[in-house]
Amino acid sequence: MEGLMQPRPLTVAHVLERAERLFAHKHVTTAGAERVTYGDVAHHARRLATVLDTLGVPTGARVGTFASNNRRHLEIYLAVPATKRVLHTINIRLSAEHLEYIVNHAEDDVMFVDRGLLPRIWPSVERLARVRHWVVLPDGSHTAVPADPRVLDYDDLVSGAAPFEGSFEDTFTLPDENLASGLCYTSGTTGAPKGVLYSHRSTVLHCMGTLAAGLIGLGESDVVMPIVPFFHANAWGLPYGAMMAGASLVLPGASAAPDRLLPLMARERVTVAGAVPTVWTSLVPDLPAHDLSAVRFLLGGGSAVHPSLSEAYRAALGVPITHSWGMTEVSPVGAVGGTRTQHRAATVAEQVAVRAAQGQPLPLVNVRIVDVDTGRELPRDGQAVGELQVAGPWVAGGYFRVDGGDSFTEDGWLRTGDLATVDPAGYLRLVDRLKDLIKSGGEWISSVELEAVIASHPEVVEVAVIGRPDPRWEERPVAYVVLRDGSACTAEELLRHITPMVAKWWLPDEFVFMTSLPRTGTGKLSKSMLRDSTAIA
Ligand code: ADP
Repeated sequence: MEGLMQPRPLTVAHVLERAERLFAHKHVTTAGAERVTYGDVAHHARRLATVLDTLGVPTGARVGTFASNNRRHLEIYLAVPATKRVLHTINIRLSAEHLEYIVNHAEDDVMFVDRGLLPRIWPSVERLARVRHWVVLPDGSHTAVPADPRVLDYDDLVSGAAPFEGSFEDTFTLPDENLASGLCYTSGTTGAPKGVLYSHRSTVLHCMGTLAAGLIGLGESDVVMPIVPFFHANAWGLPYGAMMAGASLVLPGASAAPDRLLPLMARERVTVAGAVPTVWTSLVPDLPAHDLSAVRFLLGGGSAVHPSLSEAYRAALGVPITHSWGMTEVSPVGAVGGTRTQHRAATVAEQVAVRAAQGQPLPLVNVRIVDVDTGRELPRDGQAVGELQVAGPWVAGGYFRVDGGDSFTEDGWLRTGDLATVDPAGYLRLVDRLKDLIKSGGEWISSVELEAVIASHPEVVEVAVIGRPDPRWEERPVAYVVLRDGSACTAEELLRHITPMVAKWWLPDEFVFMTSLPRTGTGKLSKSMLRDSTAIA
């Protein structure tokens, strides 16, 4: 027997119209630009909808964005899916080769580009022949705009258009909730970039996941700052989540420099912010100089947040960095860390250990760990280490126009390539990425754990550990370390510090001191670049 509830589709159009109806007075603040309201954003999105029609952008067409986190980008975020086109956010730090591959693979019909970012993409224009229109977003910069008939100005188009009247939501039927709403390519750290094609349904359910109390729990009283770029897996769902909840948004605009971010956070009384650990690390020295007393929740993801980093924030602000585990393929948030009631009586050290875990799966997300060799599911005892597999309504079931290969199991779960344990309370703890695990003498060494103990030395700013091929042991760990400015800390001192904390055979063969570590386009440490450089050495 079927239920008798209304078969209403889940759509991004609802996010837009809810913010417009309920929270039109709430603010969206972009660094260095004017403050607008959700009412303004919705009004512009309605005009943009008509612009897309006038430009002849078909339903289902991919609309590229090459932009920082700013309010015009937010308007595109809403208008494109609300009119059944597909929002394709592009990483602005890609190499020309990857950029051209992705734009051509996606067959983007229109491209929205921050004016200041034109020099990064315009040189490729003749190799991006499918893009019919280039719409420039004013961003306060004075970068030259090419005199080319394909180039249009966003503000001119929007101010000259009539708004779409009526309800976007009403244009959707139930089957439409499975239409594509967004497209994001994986950053290609593990092979060619692959497109993950989100649906309206998956996006709305993920958005509700970011609202679940006790986890991220976005609410109306929050002031949310996605430092993580819009193109990095949809800024982890924070923009849609904030709009659905009615929280204000603070957008960092073109610069993520510490001397810009912290004053902005302080001035806007930000309560929730999300960034990759490298950004959080860069802010630590300046924390005491700013009043960040409004902060209630800081999200760190994309790579492991070492306890020493999280604790530096707890010491300075009273708020640790909470782990969020995810992947582009998981929309991206799959699990969120932190303690819960059963940990109230735990010691501080025990709580720190709980917070070091990637945490609890969000509602509707299922996780399991599986023996890499046999494919057998392993016990949830906090001990057994296996490949993490995920299933849920906002987890990818395939890739855009390429075969899923061995990324998916026969029963439809996503193979994450991460090695993890799951404990009896359901907490997920990442041990390493399969490809980063160091195999030494037939045993394995977790690069993540080793990095965490090295990072606990007060002179260490950043560290990456990789396995170096070794004729006797197969691989041996080498640590690449960035020290505080002017530090005289030595390899011997670091060895002394970590020796009591790890097994003797885990001790790195070498410490290489660097002034900075290589990064991927999303700001994560790039171990593959380190490996490539050591292959030459
Ligand atoms: P890429 O795989 O190209 O780096 P993603 O941004 O999708 O692109 O990265 C997903 C991976 O990032 C995960 O599989 C995991 O290895 C790592 N990751 C994400 N969040 C965390 C976290 N909180 N702790 C540790 N690793 C994480």
